[in-house]
Amino acid sequence: MNITVFLGSRNAQKEIYETSVIKLAQEIAKRNHTLVYGGAKVGTMGILANTALEHGAKVIGVMPKILSEKEIIHEHLTEVYLVSDMHERKMKLQELADVFIAMPGGCGTMEEIFEVITWNQIGVHQKPYCFVNIDGIYDGIKLYLEHALSQNFMSKENFDKIHFFDSIEALVSSGLLK
Ligand code: AMP
Repeated sequence: MNITVFLGSRNAQKEIYETSVIKLAQEIAKRNHTLVYGGAKVGTMGILANTALEHGAKVIGVMPKILSEKEIIHEHLTEVYLVSDMHERKMKLQELADVFIAMPGGCGTMEEIFEVITWNQIGVHQKPYCFVNIDGIYDGIKLYLEHALSQNFMSKENFDKIHFFDSIEALVSSGLLK
């Protein structure tokens, strides 16, 4: 199975973010899944890729040419797609995925997972997705979604498809990683 992970390109403040990324990489490798991600060697993206590789997982990176210097491309991935822009990157990350996971990250991570959610809402794909809400980082997003639901800006059906897990253990227990 290909697991597409969106996550921060910066180093996180608290250690718990790093340890959860390491745990996720180990779980992906243990199950012989392939990690698909943005292809950077920096920040928590780099930690995820390095740990997955160290544990024998295949790792596919998708990096746009305009970012390949800024984000510092990882040179030791199993496979790299160098794409022309951010749109193509997101298309490729979506095309390759069997499941999408948003780990803690910034605006880039949000943009990517929200596109996955909205593309599901309009029927572009039927793949599952989730937020891993480490240390409550996505509590605000959850609150917003509950409010959007209460104000009828989204359907209950679409709301129910957005899963939140408080830990990698909870993600594993859900069966989403198979
Ligand atoms: P961040 O969560 O902001 O650290 O970004 C995580 C990843 O999302 C990085 O690989 C960014 O290059 C990427 N990213 C940033 N902005 C966008 C965007 N507008 N569309 C898609 N990806 C983005």
